Amino acid sequence: MNTEVPAIRLRGLHKAFGATTAVESVDLDIAPGEFFSMLGPSGSGKTTVLRMIAGFEQPTAGTVELFGKDVTKSAPFDRDVNTVFQDYALFPHMSVLDNVAYGLRVRGISKKERHAKAREALDKVRLADFGERKPSQLSGGQRQRVALARATVVEPKVLLLDEPLGALDLKLREQMQVELKEIQRDLGITFIFVTHDQEEALTLSDRIAVFNEGKIEQLGSPSDVYDHPVSPFVASFVGTSNMFSDEISQKLLGKPGQHSIRPEKLEVAHANEKLEGDQSADGTIADVIYVGSGTRLIVDLDAGMRVTVLEQNDQSYVADDERGARVRVGWRASDVISLGGSK
Ligand code: ATP
Repeated sequence: MNTEVPAIRLRGLHKAFGATTAVESVDLDIAPGEFFSMLGPSGSGKTTVLRMIAGFEQPTAGTVELFGKDVTKSAPFDRDVNTVFQDYALFPHMSVLDNVAYGLRVRGISKKERHAKAREALDKVRLADFGERKPSQLSGGQRQRVALARATVVEPKVLLLDEPLGALDLKLREQMQVELKEIQRDLGITFIFVTHDQEEALTLSDRIAVFNEGKIEQLGSPSDVYDHPVSPFVASFVGTSNMFSDEISQKLLGKPGQHSIRPEKLEVAHANEKLEGDQSADGTIADVIYVGSGTRLIVDLDAGMRVTVLEQNDQSYVADDERGARVRVGWRASDVISLGGSK
């Protein structure tokens, strides 16, 4: 059993804004050094949880502990956490070095020492040569790294990141995801990351809490959440899923309840190809969508539902326009995810 004191411990955390319940009875332990993501759709309460950990928001009920100390009533500056915001909030008139050193200045650290520490922090985010520039002379990704250096220079035990990559374009976002993970490993501190981007959460996290309507619907590793979703909500929010209703499950799987299967776990028998799976259903191809590395086939099953099949484009097979073709769709029974009782 893990007896380590958690970096963050939330108990019965609750927040109401008037008649709106933003966060409902959240219990959560986050370990030191963990890269933890809070994932959920807009309005699901993840930012409110982050703000209560930071101290910007007071809970209506419940407690926040940092490394075993109850900080529920403490002011933000009395908590050993720091936040990186989506808009970075850099001071435009200050040099990059002074921006990074700012938190040390307000703590009364001498100029020499704070500049030395700020240089070290800039070096860690690979911006050692950029200290004399102004924020406006940097790219979006570089500004993001300055914000990270500024938040980490004061050596917080926990770094809170509120959609920090939200303002970046896709390419830069993917690049920064890799860098963020490396920086977290180098620093060895706890990162709590808020995002509504499921791919980002899967890529970066040790564990993910999936939020829905103010509650944690599932807590687990990326593969727990992706391969073993516990509810229809998680199955459809994290990745794409083909959802089998109770009725379809009876017809195709011979059992009741809701089930799902990922598009990449389905296969289509083209022409007279043999299927590898042990279960199958007949249908008609409604659409063929080329997506670069793969092809997405939309198939209307005779059983009365539409499924998406993702085929890798790793074979020499070239999809003619197959719309309207009769096909058999197959899968392994072991790839079917059970989502519990009928709804
Ligand atoms: P997003 O991804 O859009 O930021 P979120 O999951 O972070 O969403 P929250 O910002 O935590 O969601 O909001 C949860 C709920 O609380 C929403 O219904 C929101 O409208 C409400 N809410 C948040 N802050 C306030 C506030 N200061 N006053 C009133 N209602 C609020």
